[in-house]
Amino acid sequence: MKTGLITSDTYHNHDTGIGHPEQVARVSVIIDNFKKINNKNLLWKKPSKISDEIISTTHDLEYINFVKQSFPKKGFSSLDGDTIISPGSKEATFDAVGSIIAAIDGVENKQFKNAFCAVRPPGHHCSQNKAAGFCILNNIAIGAKYLLNKYKYKKIAIVDIDVHHGNGTQDIFYDNENVLFISTHQYPYYPGTGSDQEKGKFNNICNIPLPAGTNSEEYLIAFEFALKKLEKFNPEFVLISAGFDALEEDPLAQFKLKTEDYYHITKRILETSKKYCHGKVISILEGGYDLKGLQDSSKRHVDALIEFN
Ligand SMILES: [Zn+2]
Repeated sequence: MKTGLITSDTYHNHDTGIGHPEQVARVSVIIDNFKKINNKNLLWKKPSKISDEIISTTHDLEYINFVKQSFPKKGFSSLDGDTIISPGSKEATFDAVGSIIAAIDGVENKQFKNAFCAVRPPGHHCSQNKAAGFCILNNIAIGAKYLLNKYKYKKIAIVDIDVHHGNGTQDIFYDNENVLFISTHQYPYYPGTGSDQEKGKFNNICNIPLPAGTNSEEYLIAFEFALKKLEKFNPEFVLISAGFDALEEDPLAQFKLKTEDYYHITKRILETSKKYCHGKVISILEGGYDLKGLQDSSKRHVDALIEFN
């Protein structure tokens, strides 16, 4: 079976201003590369149009309305110090959520085996009612809620490999025994959370904080610990917050991962997922700010999705 690649052109209009690291080119470099490669094992799909009802499983209606009203008619506005929005951000924001919904429906309807959503803005720093760190709605959290509500799953695992702690996702699921949240991240670092003492009400949060300077070998050892936790949980579906900012070249953090590590990490997640949930895995782009590194490592990430599906 094929691997789904979910994207749309609307990310082009999410203008964050000159010099902002969360820029249009982040998704362009990924998409242009996949167009060029033209791998027949990829099934391209557009995001679904989504209702407020789907978003309101995760964010309050008040917050959703606040976000909708915040998009400026022209120029720029901001939702927090880092989270800049422009008129075109609205469609991009809702398409980012719609991408994970389309991916889930595609896997459940057996259109493809697994999927990668190449979209922006990212989502994992957005908590229930607060935009932060380039994130406006929490795409992956809405996806997890959709799996619980629509498909009646009881055990969803979210593996967050972004170099920053996914504080928003952790917040949303802190007291939800149906969701296991595992995160590897640079610590102490932005956004400040993510110590191993934050365990969740049902021991459903697994933080693996690692120091600045963590290299491939050290990271992969720590990641095996994450996989043990994943196995113990026995997930029915695995979602990946795929940040590619743990690369050595990334300007926003200080891990020293190599492109090839993303192939290995993805392969290990898929091997585990095959044992427990028939390889039902959906990945969505979070961070990654070195354009060449992002292009290469997202390609290797998708290579593994194709190969081990
Ligand atoms: Zn990040």
